[in-house]
Amino acid sequence: MVARVVPVAPFDLVVFGGTGDLARRKLLPALYYRDLAGQLPDDARIIGVARSDLSADAYRERAVEALKSFIPAADLKDACVKRFIGRISYVRVDVSSTDGWDALAALLKGREDRVRAFYLALEPRFFGPICERLKASGIVTPTSRVVVEKPLGDQLASYRALNAQLTHAFDEHHLYRIDHYLGKETVQNLMALRFANALFEPLWNARHIDHVQITVAESVGVEGRGAYYDHAGALRDMVQNHLLQLLCLTAMEPPGKFDPDDVRNEKLKVLRALEPIDGSNVESHAVRGQYAGRNGAAGYIEDVGANDSTTETFVALKVNIANWRWSGTPFYVRTGKRLRSRLSEIAVIFKDVPHSIFPAAAGAVRENALIIRLQPHEGITLLMNIKDPGPGGMRLIEAPLDMTFASSLGIKGLRMPDAYERLVMDVIRGDPTLFMRGDEVEAAWAWIDPILAAWETGHRRPQLYDAGSSGPEDALRLMHMDGRRWLEIEA
Ligand code: NAD
Repeated sequence: MVARVVPVAPFDLVVFGGTGDLARRKLLPALYYRDLAGQLPDDARIIGVARSDLSADAYRERAVEALKSFIPAADLKDACVKRFIGRISYVRVDVSSTDGWDALAALLKGREDRVRAFYLALEPRFFGPICERLKASGIVTPTSRVVVEKPLGDQLASYRALNAQLTHAFDEHHLYRIDHYLGKETVQNLMALRFANALFEPLWNARHIDHVQITVAESVGVEGRGAYYDHAGALRDMVQNHLLQLLCLTAMEPPGKFDPDDVRNEKLKVLRALEPIDGSNVESHAVRGQYAGRNGAAGYIEDVGANDSTTETFVALKVNIANWRWSGTPFYVRTGKRLRSRLSEIAVIFKDVPHSIFPAAAGAVRENALIIRLQPHEGITLLMNIKDPGPGGMRLIEAPLDMTFASSLGIKGLRMPDAYERLVMDVIRGDPTLFMRGDEVEAAWAWIDPILAAWETGHRRPQLYDAGSSGPEDALRLMHMDGRRWLEIEA
């Protein structure tokens, strides 16, 4: 089966931070793949903007280098590379001064009827000044849109200040706050699974679901992002955005329509229903850890060169949602660096059968589990109990039912599109369904702030855990105390 590709409208995409890592590693490759698929119209342009003094040709050479670094050679088709590079131009702008804005305005002039999008792929401290200058230089058209990415503030107050700068220049419906987890095929499939099938929704509640586990585990450490990370930590860097977004999609009520505001209203209701974790219950509901060195590998302290750092590189939380659907069914979320494997998944663990008819010799009846795997090997699996095949009597074994349907769709071996491909095209199409609305981000910070405050005033340091492990002991205890256990972190 070949995916149907609908070309988007002609556009000018201006990438501020066009020479940076995000642009090179994600945006340019994503746009190339969309060009290869035939989704970019002839009149689509990509304008790199950065501080470096580069000619347009020198920037195009860098773009080709980026494609070669991040796209397998087999996908680099000469004709498409040539066409793609032909779309690219470059303007030198120092966004913290007045330099270069006139040249950018001149390049865009006369194309006001095209979709105009600004991707701010640089540090958020530049967002305000850029929005100001875009507005002042008359570059913002009535339908212009702007794309921003985390970190969006480091607490509620700083997020509000940042957001005020953005909304000064752009209406809310022209603001695209990316959380790239929402662009993953499997995450969108979670919505299809829940809302396009009658099978799961009747079971999707506290009566039938024992608990939910959401894991985003990384095997790498801070990787040169030490200065940023040591200020942020795992709660701000991962939980406030990615993990809470995954929790919302799992827990939300069916929206009336698959429409940007309907979907986001439902996610917002989940965020507002989260029971607070603060000084009164932080010890029983939140665990923070920090990786220690092992077998010659550096620990976090050595990685960031700050002996007294209390920044957490691991978080586990027990999250209760105070509403009719979920009361009594906790969501356990965890994320960390330098863990055993790189793995992101949502595991929905159903309740036991009320009574087992099988003799003890048949083996245990395990709870059914629906595993939504985001990476690696994106896919959805339902763990079922079946009879061990053969004449050996009634013995039960657990078997995975592959719900990826790869073979029935004829997509085995087909490349899964990167989340940025989908999301950047959504920006051009003007569809913000898979982006975070301002009030969602605000509600997420409002829930995170008391946890940060409780940790700051408490005396406990993050618990150390071995690099390559599943995290600190206390995280295991968080589950054990409830008679439950985490699934293995196995890729
Ligand atoms: P980077 O340091 O690699 O790139 C920064 C870019 O900003 C460069 O192109 C640089 O020329 C430009 N720049 C800096 N100062 C400028 C100025 N005064 N005027 C004009 N241009 C200027 O950073 P990055 O890794 O690409 O990340 C950019 C932002 O995106 C950061 O806030 C980061 O946290 C966020 N982010 C990055 C990734 C990623 O995969 N790299 C993922 C998610 C979020």
